[in-house]
Amino acid sequence: MSNTIADGKVVSIHYKLTLDNGTVVDSSEGQDPLDYLHGAQNIVPGLEKQLTGKTIGDAVQAKVAPSEGYGERDEQAIQEVERGAFPADADVSPGITFQALDEDQNPLLGTIVKVDGNSVTVDFNHPLAGHNLNFEVTIEAIRDATSQEQEHGHAHGAHGHDH
Ligand code: ZN
Repeated sequence: MSNTIADGKVVSIHYKLTLDNGTVVDSSEGQDPLDYLHGAQNIVPGLEKQLTGKTIGDAVQAKVAPSEGYGERDEQAIQEVERGAFPADADVSPGITFQALDEDQNPLLGTIVKVDGNSVTVDFNHPLAGHNLNFEVTIEAIRDATSQEQEHGHAHGAHGHDH
């Protein structure tokens, strides 16, 4: 039985994500490994690509460019919104991030940049847009996905998604 990472496998990884400036953005250190379904876009495309074909015990250093990570920064994604678009009791001040929905009802993260009277400037770029992503990954386990996981497009179970 081949036990290398391919589409349709549930993969358990320990990972650390660092930006070029050394900031650690995310890490599974001290936690259970992350389970994800390979080939289902659970993780950024550049990392998924570089993990394909790897096996248990492998340590992978993956450098992912913005185009295969969270995208380039888009100045058009900085928009002015009326204060009234936010709930009255919301904390609307610079630096606050909040979740909104785009036209297709997909969740979108917004960061408030500036508040000027009734006008709120919001940056809808992903906070990691424009950054190279430096992943250090170790492969802990690989198994076949169940048909239900395939159907749902994500991993279930102890470290995966609960319903
Ligand atoms: Zn599910």
